[in-house]
Amino acid sequence: MLTCLALLLLNAGCVRTLVNRRLDRPDRYTIVRDQLVIHCDFEVPARHRLLDELTARREDLRRELAYASSEEPIHVYLFEDANRFKEFVREEHPGFPNRRAFFVESDTRLEVYAHWGGYVGEDLRHEVTHAYLHSVLPDIPLWLDEGLAEYFEVPRGRHGLNRDHLVRILARDDATAADSSSARPPRERLYRLPNLARLESLDSEQVLPQDDYAECWAWVHFLLESSTETKTLLREYLYRLHVDGSTVPLSSRMAWRLGLTADQLADRMAEHILETARSAGFTDSAGGAPAREERPDTLGSSDVQ
Ligand SMILES: [Zn+2]
Repeated sequence: MLTCLALLLLNAGCVRTLVNRRLDRPDRYTIVRDQLVIHCDFEVPARHRLLDELTARREDLRRELAYASSEEPIHVYLFEDANRFKEFVREEHPGFPNRRAFFVESDTRLEVYAHWGGYVGEDLRHEVTHAYLHSVLPDIPLWLDEGLAEYFEVPRGRHGLNRDHLVRILARDDATAADSSSARPPRERLYRLPNLARLESLDSEQVLPQDDYAECWAWVHFLLESSTETKTLLREYLYRLHVDGSTVPLSSRMAWRLGLTADQLADRMAEHILETARSAGFTDSAGGAPAREERPDTLGSSDVQ
């Protein structure tokens, strides 16, 4: 097909115009909001509340994770039309799976691509979180990158309570999973035994199943929401990662600093999640896996998330 197009280009200038337009990124309008440079072909008010929220996310991340923010621009390409977005992805990145949005990191640019559909808020909060993180922490491990993106994709003011993941992480074959009177250890009342060391060992190019996304989110929710002690541990870990590029895995750091075995750490995390479920009004999880649309997310490449 490319050969055919090349031959046509020699004979018909209009074909060149057509081909170029199909491959172009949106660029008619540009809105600069701090680190974000938003490109689109349709009018979005510069003070749109979604853009306000995305801009504020930068400060949320800086405050919660206590790192120095970057000034590196993040280019956000917003397509108005889903079909044009799909066509662009198919032609520019033919190896990518079919997703609603994605983040691409190269040596020189941070880019987010999305279309203005019904999930654009969730999609942009997720992908822009990846971009903010990578502007400061290019070596962030996959599990933490995705866990933070899942936490911060939730609208502001909800403390990262991702209800889809909460539904998924409760044991699906046991209606008493969230019952505090159960004699089973907390870690055995989730959908599977939590294992942070396993998540830490995942290849950064791996495509995560939804169950892994849920566990990544759960560990991040535990770190940020269960105690000042765990939040401080996360901040210290990120600081070392920022300064040194790599550091002792967080599971080892936590076990040592908190004086816990791996099972005790899993119990601590599971207790937090079960309490979070009870507070959120979840009493059981007998309904099986949640009916959740497949998320746009990590695209199976170290520089695409
Ligand atoms: Zn992601």
